[in-house]
Amino acid sequence: MVNSTRFKDKTAVVTASTDGIGLAIVRRLAQEGASVIISSRLQKNVDKAIETLRDENISVKGIVCHVSKREDRGNLVKFSTQNFTKKVDVLVSNAAVSPFAGATLDMQESQFDKIMDVNFKASFQLVQDFKEHMNEYGSIVFISSYVGYNPRQPIGMYGVSKTALFGLTRALAYEMWENNHVRVNCVAPGIIKTRFSYVIWGDEEAFKETRRSIIIDRPGQPDEIAAPTAFLCSSDASYITGETLVVGGGLQSHL
Ligand code: NAP
Repeated sequence: MVNSTRFKDKTAVVTASTDGIGLAIVRRLAQEGASVIISSRLQKNVDKAIETLRDENISVKGIVCHVSKREDRGNLVKFSTQNFTKKVDVLVSNAAVSPFAGATLDMQESQFDKIMDVNFKASFQLVQDFKEHMNEYGSIVFISSYVGYNPRQPIGMYGVSKTALFGLTRALAYEMWENNHVRVNCVAPGIIKTRFSYVIWGDEEAFKETRRSIIIDRPGQPDEIAAPTAFLCSSDASYITGETLVVGGGLQSHL
């Protein structure tokens, strides 16, 4: 039970938010009073997520947005700002793909491009797109990953795309504060129970070894990423910008 109204009268946009971590972030922000705009690539997933939340008495609006499609991002901006008459307070960039598993140097160019386009470049472009449409003292959060601290095969380039988000967080934190006092932070989840990571936690026997490397010896739940993300988006984090928060049950990330 969430008992807070930190986002009353605030508008929040969360990308890739019809399932998993994104959907949990939407739920949390809405429970705390935000008007939330959800999106993902498929209309049927947008409709389903809206319905799921409606069953929980949570009302959100949704639109299709494949984050690496310029036109879709433009539509998302228009939809979220009701054609530019309103501004947005919170932007969470959550989309990622991992289309390759193997030795990093074996990756094809098309796979490299897809990873960088969705996981990294689109996060930058979303900030460019929303820059003029954010309220003063707004907040941006990039969803990265603990693997960004130690990218290696079989998902080496996915990890590198997540490392790049750490740098982007710093670079844009300076400019967005200067521009409009908008804070920019990053969340690096550990292993969280979603469809995306099923290959890691799905087989209990195979997961045993990995589990031993997590101090809180279990995978996390999406709402355990949603709560710290909401914190970073809220005025409770008013003196935090340019930071990455690892939320991974104590698994090895950095010192
Ligand atoms: P998930 O449960 O598989 O959900 C993925 C969501 O992203 C879906 O709503 C999907 O809907 C949407 N999506 C996929 N590609 C998209 C695109 N190009 N544009 C817009 N929406 C897109 O994944 P998740 O585990 O919640 O992952 C969310 C984020 O957390 C990712 O950035 C991931 O790297 C990060 N993360 C996850 C874990 C983990 O263990 N789960 C760990 C570290 C970091 P459609 O299919 O309709 O597009």
